[in-house]
Parts: sequence; structure tokens; C-alpha cells
Amino acid sequence: MVELRYDVADDLRTVTGREAVVFTPDQPICELVFRAWPNKPTTADDGTSLRITDALVDARPVQAAITPGGAPEGAPGTIVTLPLPACSDAGTEVRAELGFTLALGEDAGERVGHTPSAELAWFGTAFPLLAWVSGEGWVRDPAVDLAGETVTSEDFTLAELAVTAPQAYRVLGTGSDAGTGPGARSGTVEHRFRADAVRDVAVSVGRFTVVERDVGGVRYHVGVPESGSRLSADEWADELENAVRRLQDMLGAYPYTDLWASILPALSDGVEFPAALQFGDVNRRTMPALVAHEVAHMWFYGLVGNNQARHPWIDESFATYAQARVAGQEDDYAMSDIDGRLRGHLGEPMPYWAATGNFNRYVTGVYDQGAAVLLEGRRRSGDEAFDSALRAYITANAHRVAGPADVAAAFGHLPEVMALLRRSGALPQS
Ligand SMILES: [Zn+2]
Repeated sequence: MVELRYDVADDLRTVTGREAVVFTPDQPICELVFRAWPNKPTTADDGTSLRITDALVDARPVQAAITPGGAPEGAPGTIVTLPLPACSDAGTEVRAELGFTLALGEDAGERVGHTPSAELAWFGTAFPLLAWVSGEGWVRDPAVDLAGETVTSEDFTLAELAVTAPQAYRVLGTGSDAGTGPGARSGTVEHRFRADAVRDVAVSVGRFTVVERDVGGVRYHVGVPESGSRLSADEWADELENAVRRLQDMLGAYPYTDLWASILPALSDGVEFPAALQFGDVNRRTMPALVAHEVAHMWFYGLVGNNQARHPWIDESFATYAQARVAGQEDDYAMSDIDGRLRGHLGEPMPYWAATGNFNRYVTGVYDQGAAVLLEGRRRSGDEAFDSALRAYITANAHRVAGPADVAAAFGHLPEVMALLRRSGALPQS
């Protein structure tokens, strides 16, 4: 269970946060580990930071130990460890509370930032995120200097997300809208949200024009900057609806009650959070495939989680595969188009791709190669057999953190798919 409170400064440059977490581990623990992902290199370089101001464990003040975990020199670290007064047994509930401040990088091209000229602020994965994986334990994979995800988290109940913001601004959150009330400071409003099961949280605040629709049991909330955007909020909402409908036909029910989307001109691409998306101000030609890709992440990363630092292929291959099918791009992803040097490296972790120093190599090696493998696997094993194996994979791993062995278990009865996954390096040779 997580309760999260944000208070956004009038100038949208900083945010004060407070988090309460109630956690019942499935193994004995002697400490609590949280990740401060805004301190990773690509966001820290934009001037963004997350600093812990105080911490309590079971209502007693403790000193947080902060270690780099891949953060650049001069930035606060990405690993926040809270000592426990004594080691604690599996099944024993622990309650922690953390205070923190966020600095939002100006015009940051990443998931945390603010744009003064348009009066927009956005912050995703911008709180101390409990870094536990059931059956495994604490996850300390380092942040890397590459604009890809490295976050791992189990699902949690977002009992309350409360965002206090100047009353002139709209607030887009995560989960379902739970109403508003007067903010603690004069001239502010508190916006509340709730969610039964999410792995992460994203918020946008500012001068947005917001369109809201209820379609097919999903509530859509789309915010475009008042200062203008290439596409209207209605055009974005149309495409989001289209993607959800087509993905539901392929993958099963959309996993959330709501879908939030913020159009942020400082971004060039899309970033996924559970039930919440950030998009750059892209054009009409780029938008449909980008929307299909990010919405596909609601199933692959949102519903079925994975360790995005260690196994980035697990969500990106399936999301790009689903994007290709929804956007009619099946012929754009072929094994023969993959650079020979990248073949066999699909299963590599983020430090490998960061060491290449080349974002395009990561995209080709993981997104393109992964989609090509899955599309070819579907051709060779037969559409029906592949589609039902994929649905069974989602059902078996919903609300979990899946690993390569879970993919192998779901596709083990389709030798054509298994051979392709092994040859591409996603699964070990056997
Ligand atoms: Zn993706």
C-alpha cells in the first residue's frame, strides 16, 4: 500500500513530497530499499533531482543511507536504504514514511521536468519506489546513461495520491479521479486519485486543455498544452481509444479503469506509466504507431511487470510486436533487417546497451529484433497457437514481475518460437 502526497510550487520548478508505504515481505528483511529514479544520469543531467528529507520506520526516525546506484557524480544516489531496528520475518508488516523534494529540470526531454514558457510540469517515477520483487528480494540494478527504463516494482495499492497545485492549473494523475478539495496553502487545490494495482505513478500539472471521455468502460483523460499542440486533445483521444480497442481484441481486457495522457512539447517520444502516458508533441504521421506502442505497455510492463534494467526485451519486444500488429507494420520488422552485430543480443541487460553509447543500437537490438522474432514466431507456429500462448502468458503473469523463464513456460509448446527466442539471445541455449 502506498499513500503519496505532492505539493507543487507556484513556479512549477519544485515539488515537496511525502510517501507512506505499508509492506509485507515474503522473505525475512533487515532493511528497506527504495529507488530514487529521478537521479539517474539522463534525468540528473537535465537538472532534475529527488532528495530525501526525512524517514521513519514504524513511526521511529531513521537515517537513510543513499548510494549512487548508477547516479552521476554530484547527483543524489538512486538507492535509498532505510535500516530496520531489527531484522523482520517474512509476513511481518513494516510501515515506512519518507519526506522528499523534487527539482524538475527545465525543458527536460525526459520523464521529470517543467516548461516555464507553457507553464507545464510533469513527474513520473518521482518518489522513493519500493524496490522489492516477490521471490527474489531487493532490486539494486544500476541506473544507466541511456534514455530507457530501468525501473522494477511490484504492483501496489495506491490508497491515495494527493496533488496540491495552484488553482489555475489542471492536474492529470494516475488511477481514478477521487475528487478535489481545498489545498493546504491559499490559492491551491488538492486533487485526489486512487488505484487498486499499479507499479508506478505519473503526474502532470499546468496549463492543459483537458478532454475526458467514457468509452467501453475506460475513462480517457487527455491534456494538451493551452499554448498549442500539433494535434488536438480529441485527435489524441481518438487514437488512444482506437489502440485500446484493438489491443483488447488481441490481448484481453484493458487492465485499468482510466487512461491518462499528457502532451509535453519538451519530450520527443512517448513514456509509459501504469494507466498514464507522457507524449511529445508529435505529428499526425508519427502518432498512431507511437500511441499503439505506449498503450501496449499497459499489458507489457503495466499488467505483466518485468525487471526493465535486467530484461528490457521482455516488455519492449512484446510492446513493439503489438504496436506492429495494431499499426499495420508487420512488414517493417524483419530479422533480415537487423544488423548482424546485434543479432543474438536481444537478451542483454541495460548496462550492455548503455556501454554501446548508442541509443539506436538499443532500439534496433531490443525493440526491432524483439518484434521481428515474435512476428516471425507467429508466422511459423500459426496465428492461433501463438495468439493463445501470448494471452496465456499475460494471464499467468498478470500483477507479477515476469522473467525469461516465464516467457519460456508460456511458449515452450511452440518449438518454432522457442528456437527464434534462443537464437536471438533472449532465452539461454539448451
Ligand atoms: Zn516501449
